[in-house]
Amino acid sequence: MSAQQSETPVATKPAGGPEPAPSAPQDFIRQIVAEDVRTGRLRSRVHTRFPPEPNGYLHIGHAKAICLDFGVAEEFGGLCNLRFDDTNPAKEEVEYVDAIRRDIHWLRFDWGDREFYASDYFERLYACAVTLIRTGKAYVDSLTADEIREYRGTLTEPGRESPYRNRPVDENLDLLERMRKGEFPDGTHVLRAKIDMSSPNINMRDPTLYRIRHAAHHRTGDLWCIYPTYDYAHPLSDAFEEITHSLCTLEFEDHRPLYDWVIAQLDFADPPQQIEFARLNLLYTVTSKRKLAQIVVDGRVSGWDDPRLPTLAGLRRRGYTPEAIRDFCQRIGIDKSEGVVDLALLEHCVREDLNARALRVMGILRPIKVVLVSYPEDEVEELEAVNNPEDASAGTRTVPFSRELYIDRDDFREVPPPKYHRLSPGAEVRLRYAYIIKCVEVVKDERGEIVELRCTHDSETKSGSGPQARRKVKGTIHWVSAKHAVPAEVRLYDRLFIAEQPGRDGSLLDELNPASLQVLTACRVEPSLAAASAGSRYQFERLGYFVVDPDSAPGRLVFNRTVTLRDTWAKIEQKQRGEVGD
Ligand code: ATP
Ligand code: MG
Repeated sequence: MSAQQSETPVATKPAGGPEPAPSAPQDFIRQIVAEDVRTGRLRSRVHTRFPPEPNGYLHIGHAKAICLDFGVAEEFGGLCNLRFDDTNPAKEEVEYVDAIRRDIHWLRFDWGDREFYASDYFERLYACAVTLIRTGKAYVDSLTADEIREYRGTLTEPGRESPYRNRPVDENLDLLERMRKGEFPDGTHVLRAKIDMSSPNINMRDPTLYRIRHAAHHRTGDLWCIYPTYDYAHPLSDAFEEITHSLCTLEFEDHRPLYDWVIAQLDFADPPQQIEFARLNLLYTVTSKRKLAQIVVDGRVSGWDDPRLPTLAGLRRRGYTPEAIRDFCQRIGIDKSEGVVDLALLEHCVREDLNARALRVMGILRPIKVVLVSYPEDEVEELEAVNNPEDASAGTRTVPFSRELYIDRDDFREVPPPKYHRLSPGAEVRLRYAYIIKCVEVVKDERGEIVELRCTHDSETKSGSGPQARRKVKGTIHWVSAKHAVPAEVRLYDRLFIAEQPGRDGSLLDELNPASLQVLTACRVEPSLAAASAGSRYQFERLGYFVVDPDSAPGRLVFNRTVTLRDTWAKIEQKQRGEVGD
């Protein structure tokens, strides 16, 4: 599946339309939806929602949920709402709301004018609570939080009924109203559903629907001092918005009976159906806003968009493309059982996409000077270089060549190991798009450090010019012209955690990789990059894919390495197909 195809999911016609095209993903959720559309359940409507809590930035796990929620809606000609589940006043911030909107748009999904907030429903939710009290389905409990926990029982023991459980309706109504008016301090009363204290499912043992919290909310300010719980607000928000398929991750499976219970008490014509799927787990990374917040708040990274984080903002700054992320989400598919995905697959998708699109350039990370003693002092040649061998329409550019060059320190060894085909004393190597050169002298400083290599060039071997040009040597290396090159800073990244499953056995903060960031400040890139703008992506030949970081300014170029060129996932796949031995 190419990134291009995943960009435009194939739409299928509702009721009786053609079978989905082979490129449309198939999974158990899409099968359920297709069946509902076919049989006319819920009037053949498809309406989903993506419901983030605005308590942090979206991460790669959310991308999976977003691609599913918006993807299913698009494929079945339906709609998908963006709903902020902002029922918890303490932790939610406007910054997160803005970041979430930006990141979904970046993934090229759109919710039109259907941006909703659970807090918009506070009045309706309250009215539903009054109804529940009136029908004997809810009561105000005045036990303390500790007592409620104690009365709840355990997995092996049933719970006990609260002494307040059989309060008369009028008393409940009066107390709820006074809770709303702010007459009671936090924690003195809660509103609970009256379900079943001996249910084997603890979620059904009279769950809390409202708690008192004297805290300002980012949208409703001080209007409310009682706030609904997620388990109460979520199903009702879905029902208010006439959601048909409420897709969520497996941790909500045990909450489904409560979800259904809440909706069943309140007479909705087409009650939504909750369907759970497995969350995305990645090795060596964390996908939980709460855990990511720990690292950000503790200052272990530069912010929510630090390129080492699996947040969408971080991945964007790292140079990942939305197309690659959507391709990745399509490849991992939707499943009912939890698994762990290798980060190498995500990187593979990024490489595939960038290979097709990124312009090739030359950049030197750790420069070492080369002086071509056989080349005229003041001569400058403009050599033609290919912008993208994968895409002829990308054309060519010229790169200046002169007597003094920089090459990468890695491309020279004074004592070359066996099969080393790069530069070493007496050996020849081709300079990309230019000449074959030979190292004739190694110049060192008083400490014995190599400061310069003196080389000769074979003027008959210029790339693309006549029969001699085709003279072959084993190695080709990249270079830049010393006086034309532009200084740059390059940031190289490694995985953020040293533990496979960070935070599982130890503390998250103790499992950070101390070498996850390496900053190289003396890099040199070819002059065509002088005015490169933030977000532009390139392949530095032989070194990987790089993106211009927003820290860049006129006269200051900063690059992030997105990925190296080594594709470990392609190797894993080849191995699985038996194409390479161990
Ligand atoms: P927190 O760690 O704070 O609970 P979260 O990462 O679970 O945050 P939510 O705002 O609760 O984020 O999630 C919004 C939606 O994204 C939910 O429907 C949730 O099921 C889905 N989601 C969250 N994490 C993942 C994940 N790793 N894989 C797939 N879907 C996810
Ligand atoms: Mg969550």
